[in-house]
Amino acid sequence: MHGLDASRMVIGVAGAGTMGAGIAQVAALAGHAVVLYDLEDAYVQRGLGTLAAAIQRLADKGKLDGEAATAAIARVTGTTRTADFAPCALVIEAAPEDIGIKQSLFKAVEAVASPEAVLATNTSTLSVARIAAGLARPGRVCGMHFFNPAPLMPLVEVIRGPATEADAAALVTALATAWGKTPVAAADRPGFIVNRVARPFYGEALRALGEGLADAVAIDRLARDAGFPMGPFELMDLIGIDVNFAAASSVYEGFFQDPRFRPHPIQRMMVESGRLGRKTGQGYYSYDPRGAMVASAVAEGGSTSGELPAGGDVTETVPSMTNVLILAAPGQAEAAVLADRLRSGGAAVAIADTDAHLELEARQADALIDLQPSWDDARAERLTRYARWLRRGRPLLVSTETVSATRVAAAIGGLGRPERLLGFTLLPPLDKRGCVEVMAARQTDVAVRPAAEALWRTAGLDAVWIGDTVGGILPRMVACLAAEAMTAVMDGTATAEGIDQAMRLGTRYPRGPLEWLAILGAGRVAAILDALAADQGEDRYRVPPLLRRRVESGG
Ligand code: NAD
Repeated sequence: MHGLDASRMVIGVAGAGTMGAGIAQVAALAGHAVVLYDLEDAYVQRGLGTLAAAIQRLADKGKLDGEAATAAIARVTGTTRTADFAPCALVIEAAPEDIGIKQSLFKAVEAVASPEAVLATNTSTLSVARIAAGLARPGRVCGMHFFNPAPLMPLVEVIRGPATEADAAALVTALATAWGKTPVAAADRPGFIVNRVARPFYGEALRALGEGLADAVAIDRLARDAGFPMGPFELMDLIGIDVNFAAASSVYEGFFQDPRFRPHPIQRMMVESGRLGRKTGQGYYSYDPRGAMVASAVAEGGSTSGELPAGGDVTETVPSMTNVLILAAPGQAEAAVLADRLRSGGAAVAIADTDAHLELEARQADALIDLQPSWDDARAERLTRYARWLRRGRPLLVSTETVSATRVAAAIGGLGRPERLLGFTLLPPLDKRGCVEVMAARQTDVAVRPAAEALWRTAGLDAVWIGDTVGGILPRMVACLAAEAMTAVMDGTATAEGIDQAMRLGTRYPRGPLEWLAILGAGRVAAILDALAADQGEDRYRVPPLLRRRVESGG
């Protein structure tokens, strides 16, 4: 292992663009002398200017001593000669994402670097193995993947290619830590951790939009309600729809066109039409010249079929929600949480969670909520019995995480009065939700809408209307994120802890996908995926074998 005395360890950065200037700033502030290289002096000067201004801003805000700022700026030397990398212990390349450029750059660096020097690549999508191929000592090449903006984002993925020597990875890990970053070890797989495991967040949102289940505004709202700091569409607008599409395409190709990663035609259409997000003033949303959002979503592919048309009779008096009956599985904790929310809204709530027949309660109920998990004959039979007891016109709200509302409506038959049936999905933790996804069956009559909305309001939940679908929108997104994380554990990309940590730090998700898996339970995630695979007929939703084994072993 190398010593880590910053004052004696020179760091090289190749490429003085967005990432290179940010990485040079991080290293200089940590006390290193830094050699910042680019092809032309103008690019070098631009990079030096960027980092000097950023360091000066820190000083102006009082976050850094003025002298320390001046010293840090002075520690960075610009150059257009690779020979100046000779004294460097580590050279980090942040050149354009082009395999030819990166390979020839590292060849030039290798020719001048000391035998112990480590060469790190900040590539987002290229394989470390490929970048190192052709070098005399590929073992000294390691991935050091910073996130944008490098001075602020805490995550660094440390990627070991098949040839990477343990010492090289150890130096990169130790330096990342010394620079105040959190290094997470990853194997050399397409997209590493974050750029791969995050794919379903965008991919399933785009599928929902493309299937006309909801528009971008509604989908973003649902994601934010689940704690994601931004919805997928506003985030794609921020990242750049072209940049996000390139990452999606690269991971898709990297996995030999595995359908899990297939990008969506909407992405390509947006790129081809020049609507790239904030930077062009138009993406899924519109922006004014100052960057403020000015209009709601461009409903690309989003026919918002989830909206129940407002019929002439929907202005009828809304029945009050005095008595609510919840159908649940024995011991289903969510039933108690939902009951508490309804009681806080003034309703009297009974829970039918055993074999007891709460026939009287059902006959007196103003609404029936069926929270039972999964969909099978026993549930259909129980639901049908209760539906027949429930008075005419009273809403029948059925959790449809693994089945369509239309299928449930068909199953309860005419005597169950399917015209007042609505499906819904509600992700735990239920005490944190502000929205519920609600979907009408083909058999549903619009007249039930006010009563259903009144019921959800009583529980403090806004109804977000989506098209009838299996897996809802959020459950589908979260189940696919959890499945991708499990697949990444299975193929050795990273540890479970590493993946959750990388996702929290690299994407600001409030919880990692494997924490989501723990909250939902392996059986529930697998059931959502199985239902989607059956409904869509696509390998995209296959359950990772490691998740299946977890279900088979009882959790
Ligand atoms: P950029 O275009 O801002 O900067 C690239 C710089 O490299 C430019 O200054 C360019 O003049 C210079 N350059 C071109 N050819 C070169 C060569 N042969 N040798 C040295 N420098 C050369 O790009 P960026 O956004 O900073 O991305 C750089 C790398 O970082 C890419 O591999 C990218 O995938 C990766 N990355 C980018 C981000 C991001 O959000 N921008 C995040 C993580 C990783």
